[in-house]
Amino acid sequence: MEPQRSPLLEVRGNIELKRPLVKAPSRLPLPGTRFKRGPDQMEDALEPEKKRTRGLNTVTKIATSHPRPPALTVRPQTQSQTTAPKVPKKTGPHCSTAIGTVLKNQKPGPAVPAQKPGAAAPPTLGGKKPTKRPAWDLKGQLCDLNAELKCCRERTQTLNQENQQLQDQLKEAQQQARALGAECRTLEGELARVQAQAEQGQQELGNLRARVLELEEQLGTQQGLVQELQKEQVGLQEERRGLAARLEEQERRLQASEVALSGSQAEVASLRQEADTQAALLVEQGERLHGLEMERRRLHNQLQELKGNIRVFCRVRPVLPGEPTPSPGFLLFPSGPGGSSDPPTRLSVSRSDERRGTLSGTPAPTTRHDFSFDRVFPPGSGQDQVFEEIAMLVQSALDGYPVCIFAYGQTGSGKTFTMEGGPGGDPQAEGLIPRALRHLFSVAQELGGQGWTYSFVASYVEIYNETVRDLLATGTRKGQSSECEIRRAGPGSEELTVTNARYVPVSCEKEVEALLQLARQNRAVARTSQNERSSRSHSVFQLQISGEHAGRGLQCAAPLSLVDLAGSERLDPGLALGPGERERLRETQAINSSLSTLGLVIMALSNKESHVPYRNSKLTYLLQNSLGGSAKMLMFVNISPLEENVSESLNSLRFASKVNQCVIGTAQANRK
Ligand code: ADP
Ligand code: MG
Repeated sequence: MEPQRSPLLEVRGNIELKRPLVKAPSRLPLPGTRFKRGPDQMEDALEPEKKRTRGLNTVTKIATSHPRPPALTVRPQTQSQTTAPKVPKKTGPHCSTAIGTVLKNQKPGPAVPAQKPGAAAPPTLGGKKPTKRPAWDLKGQLCDLNAELKCCRERTQTLNQENQQLQDQLKEAQQQARALGAECRTLEGELARVQAQAEQGQQELGNLRARVLELEEQLGTQQGLVQELQKEQVGLQEERRGLAARLEEQERRLQASEVALSGSQAEVASLRQEADTQAALLVEQGERLHGLEMERRRLHNQLQELKGNIRVFCRVRPVLPGEPTPSPGFLLFPSGPGGSSDPPTRLSVSRSDERRGTLSGTPAPTTRHDFSFDRVFPPGSGQDQVFEEIAMLVQSALDGYPVCIFAYGQTGSGKTFTMEGGPGGDPQAEGLIPRALRHLFSVAQELGGQGWTYSFVASYVEIYNETVRDLLATGTRKGQSSECEIRRAGPGSEELTVTNARYVPVSCEKEVEALLQLARQNRAVARTSQNERSSRSHSVFQLQISGEHAGRGLQCAAPLSLVDLAGSERLDPGLALGPGERERLRETQAINSSLSTLGLVIMALSNKESHVPYRNSKLTYLLQNSLGGSAKMLMFVNISPLEENVSESLNSLRFASKVNQCVIGTAQANRK
C-alpha cells in the first residue's frame, strides 16, 4: 500500500518535475518571482531546441551583421566607371546570395563579411568615400547612384521580404506568447494551487508540530510514568522475590503439612472408624442408660413405697436462747435396733402428772409417751441432714410422682424454719424449699444429658380462715388480701389452678430466692393488720414440674407441694372469751377444721374410702392432686423442746402418729 503523500511533498515533486525548464537557456523564473520576460524568452524557456532552428536568430544575425555590399568595400578606387555598374551586380547578387544563403541555411555563416564590420566602410552616400568620382563624372556618379539605388531597391525588397518574414514570425511569436500566456495563467493557477497546498501544508505542518510538541509532552509524561513504573517494577520485583521466597517456604511447609495431613487423614480415618464404633456403643449405652434410668425410677419408686407413701418425720427444734432449759429426760431419743449408728426413729416424751402428785403429796409421777416415726431429728440436727432424708422424695417428683411435704406443729415449733429456713440468709439455715428446688434444678440438668428437658412453674399462696391469698402478688396487688379462688384449669381437667395468683416459671435458685423474699414481704405487710397471721395460716408453695423426652416421646408432670401449716395449738377452753378471743377462736376453729380435714383425707385415702373429703377445706381441695393414690406424702411434725409446750407437743405427736399409720395405695407415676 502506497503511503499517503503530504501535499507539501506533492508540491515539491511538481517543482522537481519542472526543474529542467528552469535549467533551460530561457530560464524559467525562480519560485516566488513573477514572469517578467518577453514572449521570446518564454519561448526560449519552453522550446530551447526550436529556438536554434528558428529564423529569429537568423534575423538577429542579419540585423547585427547587416553587411555592406562587399563591392563597396573591396572595389578599388581606381575602378573605371564602366566597370562600376557591374560592381553592384557583383555585390548585389553576392549580398542577396549571402542573405539568401543565411535565410536558406538559417545558420550564421562564418564567411559573412558582416562579421568584420570594421574591415569595410559602409557604402552610404553621405559617408566618406575612399574614392570620389570627379565632379565632372556625372555619368559615373549617376551610374554609381543607380547602382546604389538598385542596390538599395534590392535591399528594400529584401528588407520588405525580411520584414514580411519578421511580421510572420512576430505573429507566430505573438501566438506563441498568447499560448505561453495561457500556459502562464495555467501555471499561475497551478502555482496558486500549489501555494494554497503549501499554505495548507504549512498549516498542517504547524498542526503537526503542535501535535509533535503535544506528543513530546505526552512522551515526557509517559517517560516519567515509565520511570515510575520501572521503579514500581523494581519494587514489585523485590516484593515478588520476597513472595517467591515466602511461597517456597509455604510450599515447603505445605509439603510438610501434606505429609502430616496424609498421616492425620489416616489417623482421622481410624479415629472415624473408632468414633463410629464409639457412636454405636454410645447409642447402645444410651439405650442401656435409658433402660437403667427407667429401672432406677422404678426401683426408686419401689424404695419410696417400701419406705411408705406417707412418711412422718419428727423434728424437735433446739431450745432457743432465753428459753427455760427442759428438765433432763423430758425428751428422749432412744436408739434404734441397730444401736446409736442407726438414725433415730423414736421419741419419748415424759410428762409429769402434777395434779396427781399434788393430791397424793408424793412427787408427781411421770408418764412416758413413746412415739415412733420414719425418722426423728433431735434438736441438733442441721437443715442439710433433714434435706438429705427428703432428697430422694424430691427426686420422685422429677420422675413424675406428685410429692407433698407438710410441716405440722404448734406455733413456734420450727415449721417455717424447716420449710423456708432461718432468718438472715445463712446458707446453713436454708430450708427445704430452696434446697429442694436447687436439687431439682441440678438433677433436671443431669437428666438433660439423657434427653430430658424440664420446666418448673412456681406459685405460693396462703390460706387464712378459708380464704386463699397470693403471696407472689406484686405492684398494686402487693399486700392486698384480694381473694383467690381454686378452680379447675379447664373443663374436665384434673389440674387445679388458683385464680388471681401468679404462676412464675423458674429455672434457677436466684429466682426461687426472689420469690421467697417476695412472699416474706407480702406476709410482713399483712402482719401489720393482723398480728401473727402467718402462724394462723397455711402457706402452700407449689412447683409444677413438667419433663419431656422428645427423642422417645415421653412426658411426665407432677406437682411438688411444700406446705407450712398453721399452728396446730388449740385454744385453752378455760380462757374467758373476749371480743379478740372470739376472733381468735374462729381462726383456731378454721385451722383445726382444716387440719382435721387433712387428717380425715389421709385416713380416707389410707382406708381406700370411696369418698375423700377434699372439699371440706380449701387446703385439702388445693392439695388434692398432691395427695391420693399416686402421691407421695411426707409430714414433718415439729416439736417444741419446752416442757411448757408438752401438751401441744403430745397432741402433734398423736396426730402425726395417726398419719404415720396410714398407707396410701401404690403410687403411680403421672406418665403420659
Ligand atoms: P413456726 O413456724 O412453727 O411458728 P418458726 O419456724 O418460726 O416456728 O420457729 C420459731 C423460732 O425457732 C424461730 O426463731 C426459729 O428461728 C427458731 N427455730 C426453729 N427451728 C429451729 C432449728 N431447728 N434450729 C434453730 N432454730 C430454730
Ligand atoms: Mg411459722
